[in-house]
Amino acid sequence: MANDCTLCQQSGGELLWQNDFCRVVLVDDKQLAGMCRVIAQQHIKEMSDLNPAQQIAMMQVVFAVEKVMREVLRCDKINLASLGNKTPHLHWHIMPRYHDDAHFPESIWAAPQRPMKVLDSALLQSFKVQLQQHLKQIA
Ligand SMILES: [Zn+2]
Repeated sequence: MANDCTLCQQSGGELLWQNDFCRVVLVDDKQLAGMCRVIAQQHIKEMSDLNPAQQIAMMQVVFAVEKVMREVLRCDKINLASLGNKTPHLHWHIMPRYHDDAHFPESIWAAPQRPMKVLDSALLQSFKVQLQQHLKQIA
């Protein structure tokens, strides 16, 4: 645990699921509705710091989020990213993208090109419930 690390000190979003190894949070940002993060529970910097079984375990969780995101949110594209330049604590961003979202086709970190897309709150709630159910099965 690192005292100056945001992801060691805070959940990083609304906690949807966790085990000893990693957690899934929903990012609390209306601009990025539906975006999730899979975050290592320990202060690990890179994927290659994990052993092969841990690498697979982490990606299984990432792909589980991606699968439910595609099915429930019916997005046009999924973006996966692991950057960690500002917060070098291993985490993956899983982003539902739509042709009419604010940044498409650029990354969500690029300048907006149009007004933000608002996801229906019932749809978002359904996504959370189905994701939690799905993650229980893989854990
Ligand atoms: Zn950390």
